[in-house]
Amino acid sequence: MPGLYIHIPFCRAKCGYCDFASAPGTTDEIDVFLRALELEAASCAALAGQFSTLYVGGGTPSLLSPPQLEKLFAILEKLAGPVKDLAEATFEANPESLDAEKAGLLKRAGVGRVSLGLQASQDALLRRLGRVAMSGDFLKAWDALRAAGFDNLNADLMCGLPGQTPADFAEAIGWLLRLKPEHVSFYALEVHEGTPFAAAGVKEDPEGSAGMYEAGAAALQAAGLGRYEISNFARPGRQSLHNLNYWAQGEYLGLGPAAASYLGGERRANTADTAAYVKAALAGAPAPQQYRETLTGRARTAERIMLGLRRTAGIELTDDIFIEFKDETERLLKAGLIERGGSSLRIKPERLYVSNAVFREFV
Ligand code: SF4
Repeated sequence: MPGLYIHIPFCRAKCGYCDFASAPGTTDEIDVFLRALELEAASCAALAGQFSTLYVGGGTPSLLSPPQLEKLFAILEKLAGPVKDLAEATFEANPESLDAEKAGLLKRAGVGRVSLGLQASQDALLRRLGRVAMSGDFLKAWDALRAAGFDNLNADLMCGLPGQTPADFAEAIGWLLRLKPEHVSFYALEVHEGTPFAAAGVKEDPEGSAGMYEAGAAALQAAGLGRYEISNFARPGRQSLHNLNYWAQGEYLGLGPAAASYLGGERRANTADTAAYVKAALAGAPAPQQYRETLTGRARTAERIMLGLRRTAGIELTDDIFIEFKDETERLLKAGLIERGGSSLRIKPERLYVSNAVFREFV
């Protein structure tokens, strides 16, 4: 059964490193967006009731007011059925817009998993990133979620930040682990074109990041959060089912600006331009697409390999991989980047940090 992804394209302010489709929005703009989302969801009614997981991401979905959240869940229930009956329902939040009232509302709506943005534990670093919430805000939001009964929380963490030392990073990991998260998504800073960081000339620090990443991955694993994907760590039974479906090349429907879908072998993505998305929906037209293509044969297998190799368990070494990508896999085996274990193929754990070198072989 497919997953359902909803993109909420609003944030209180733009972080310096962010290249997601998100921007500040007024209450009226969010209301109009919800109307457009409702229309897009109605246009997908043929898929109603067929979803196994839900992921509300962004942007900052928690920016919605309580009445807007009620409206959002009414839209979602119409398409996906009762949220509490799904195999997993995740909601992304940022601390500046998540209080006890919203935590309770999410719980009552049937959400089982919340992902909260942390990135760093030092306020000076958070300010440098352009984050709105400081570490004290994160603690308050985290406590509100626990008090509402959430026992499946993710925190996003970053390393390789401008001016961040290995000691800063070790402090952040220790700070986060004391909160006993069930899941951590952990990324090294990347500076993407078009972001405020790129405009300000902020540079990536691959070497510094690699050291921090390895230290962070080791600390997370020592604390019982097993690495199950390049950037994701979880306690047993707490892996993200929604994301595991992506990495298994499973089907999903994405609604909202920039949301991608993969259904019936076709992958596509809505325009990232929220105004264009809303305009089309209100006019009764489908959202303009960034791309739309049907994956077949070798391209489909290549994508399955690249997605599957993101997981530490790797992929089953099936005949089509053997036949169509024999040279590539042999080159990578010889270079010591991947390894075989029984009938599966995986990136060597110590090489996960340089996974892009592996993926390049399959592009
Ligand atoms: S909160 Fe997340 S989505 Fe919003 S601007 Fe910051 S990084 Fe981007």
